[in-house]
Amino acid sequence: MRALKYKGVHDIGFLDVPVPEPGPGQVRLEVSACGVCHTDVTFRNNPEIAVEPGLTLGHEIAGVVESLGPEVSSISLGTEVVVHTIWSCGRCRQCLRGRENACLSTASRLTPPQGPGTRYDGGMAKYVVVPAASALPTRGLAPEFASVLPDAATVPYHAVDSNRHLLVDGASVLVIGAGGLGQFAVSILRATTEARVVVVDVRESALDAVRSQVFAVLNSNAASIADRVVEIASGHGPDLVLDFVGTDSTLQLAGSVVAPYGTVWVPGQSGGTFTLDTDRATTAVPRGAAIVSRPYGGTRNNLADVIALAADGLITIPITTYPFENALAAFDDLDAGRVVGRAVLTMN
Ligand SMILES: [Zn+2]
Ligand SMILES: [Zn+2]
Repeated sequence: MRALKYKGVHDIGFLDVPVPEPGPGQVRLEVSACGVCHTDVTFRNNPEIAVEPGLTLGHEIAGVVESLGPEVSSISLGTEVVVHTIWSCGRCRQCLRGRENACLSTASRLTPPQGPGTRYDGGMAKYVVVPAASALPTRGLAPEFASVLPDAATVPYHAVDSNRHLLVDGASVLVIGAGGLGQFAVSILRATTEARVVVVDVRESALDAVRSQVFAVLNSNAASIADRVVEIASGHGPDLVLDFVGTDSTLQLAGSVVAPYGTVWVPGQSGGTFTLDTDRATTAVPRGAAIVSRPYGGTRNNLADVIALAADGLITIPITTYPFENALAAFDDLDAGRVVGRAVLTMN
């Protein structure tokens, strides 16, 4: 079968490889669609070895269960599924409490649990083998849409769901960055909370995509932006700030608007630094504020909830599809910022 492989530095291309066999507890999927993510593009752009050479890329997988390995009874042949991106041990105390994204079976405290397309062969191929426990039925969703749910929708869902205690009546949320994840965050907030939502982005086109769905949009270049956010958020600032960008300036904005005992949640990984200044004479960060740095993916239950929201038509995003053989064009378009919504490879 054809597979899109990471071959080495700046080198991604197709190879013919054997069809993989599912082992105990695993199933083989015939891939229907596989999302292309900025993470994949960063692998290609990385001047050093990014992942193990020879790895099949693709962590946003939708497919049909086509073969069952030994000891699999939880799922049947022909089921359409998407794949949770985190393949955890299922036995440690974090897994047992449903925190697969903090699984303790990894190499060190700085090593997150791994999944397809980063550590194990992924879905940019005709077939992929995955743990049966990581394959969740998609309830009739179109595969090219379903494929983006495990990453682009589950990350913002994890952000919202982890902070529901803050999102009581009258609460406000600031979303920084209205790309794919930010757009999903807006629709998840609208579908599952009563919070007043404010969105900040530097791109007017990104703000246009969410303008009609939220209380206010603000361009990051506008004057006195922090003051305006605080004012919109009842004068004390948003209870939750979701920073999908993570630069020095977005983190500074987040810290200078968040409400007392509010949370700044930072999935964005653009290399910014958050300064936690405890000098009460100079700090812009209010009492009791928490910062959650680089939350990782989402839980399996988060993905199940996301699938249910999508099946009910409550969350959506534009999809740009590419035939599998044109995968490298998708990488180029994503790299150049030419993709509207999410880029997805279709296999048939
Ligand atoms: Zn991704
Ligand atoms: Zn575990």
